[in-house]
Amino acid sequence: MLNVGIDIGGTKIAGGVVDDTGAIIERTRVATPVDTGALAEAVAAMVHDLASRHDVGAVGVAAAGYIDRTRSVMLHSPNIDWHNEPLRAEFEARIGRPVTLENDANAAGWGEYRFGAGRGSTDMVMVTLGTGVGGAVINDGRLLIGANGSAAELGHLRFVRGGRPCGCGQNGCLEQYASGRALQRELGDIADGGGIGARLAAHRGADGIVPAADLALLLSEEDAGAVEAVRRVATALGEACGAFQAVLDPDLYVIGGGVADLGEVLLEPTRIAYETSLPGFGDRPTARFTVATLGNDAGLVGVADLAGLRSR
Ligand SMILES: [Zn+2]
Repeated sequence: MLNVGIDIGGTKIAGGVVDDTGAIIERTRVATPVDTGALAEAVAAMVHDLASRHDVGAVGVAAAGYIDRTRSVMLHSPNIDWHNEPLRAEFEARIGRPVTLENDANAAGWGEYRFGAGRGSTDMVMVTLGTGVGGAVINDGRLLIGANGSAAELGHLRFVRGGRPCGCGQNGCLEQYASGRALQRELGDIADGGGIGARLAAHRGADGIVPAADLALLLSEEDAGAVEAVRRVATALGEACGAFQAVLDPDLYVIGGGVADLGEVLLEPTRIAYETSLPGFGDRPTARFTVATLGNDAGLVGVADLAGLRSR
């Protein structure tokens, strides 16, 4: 069975026809329209175009934001001006077939669980380290949704009491300590401090950012400043996973997003911090850590698969 997955991002909409092994048969993309009606029309046009060449079953749409428990209404989206928007009905009216709506981080986690790094797991936690932190929880083979549809917002676990302010209106959230933005903050702090930060300072751009290629080079040379910045972020991530373990008891953590491209340089200190902070370490089984394998396709593939499963 072929299903269509659509992943709505802040700047572009990615679409694709996905088979039951998670392979993308054909893909397409357009810029994200600002207006909701135009956006729904663009998504419908993508689906109709793909369906003209493939025998398509269900349609899944992933987007950032809080979605109600029935997966019909977008309660609030950080990227697009949606408040209590009946998105599912708007898409179905234009597409003319059933549509599954899912949070983008949940969709990505489901994609990894079914077809990527999470295959073989029963209880998996995915932490996506992008600009912020996205989360998905698979509990006994099911996506954790919550009573109001908003479970698994792992980036907004309060990690530091009275800590750094967060865009969610709270403070001390995990994503202020373990994310792409947090890594750049640590790199900047160390560069500004002199000493081990000297080489980092020389690699900062005019915007204050250390480019990914420069960071990779410095890490390959075991530059003390770069290693320390990654260790700080990994420590926050590992300690948070120790807390997740106490609540969710997964067998696997899948780390995704741009920061996960660091691979073992990130995972090794993450595991150490996880074990150090784990309640009852030594007396209970621990989880494995690995990096995501589907990259930016995870959400598209995951939501297409969810659409197929939910339409049965
Ligand atoms: Zn927050």
